[in-house]
Amino acid sequence: MDKKFLEKMEKTLVTQKKALIADLISSNDDLKAVIKNEEPGDLADIAGEDIDRKMLEAKGIAELNRLKSIESAITRIKQGHYGSCIKCGKPIPKDRLEALPFALMCVECKTLDERKNA
Ligand SMILES: [Zn+2]
Repeated sequence: MDKKFLEKMEKTLVTQKKALIADLISSNDDLKAVIKNEEPGDLADIAGEDIDRKMLEAKGIAELNRLKSIESAITRIKQGHYGSCIKCGKPIPKDRLEALPFALMCVECKTLDERKNA
């Protein structure tokens, strides 16, 4: 995986993470109340660090899984494992990553996984 591509994907993922968090906050009054107590500043930056994940989980917020996937993808970029399937270890095609930057599994494993959870 070349460095330029990884840098681009990391930027995309960070942007998506911020957008997702901003979205969560604007659509959820409980979260708004939590954030209001924080120092003013970049909402997404504050939220990213300080929102209680357990609270999000307790509220059954559907986007939490996507947020987790985005964060694991960012972690995997930092660790140098980005772009390999977490299940079978095969490389995930670039066009799949471009379409779905937080994809952690190749198409085959993802399909199997979804079938299992269905
Ligand atoms: Zn796989």
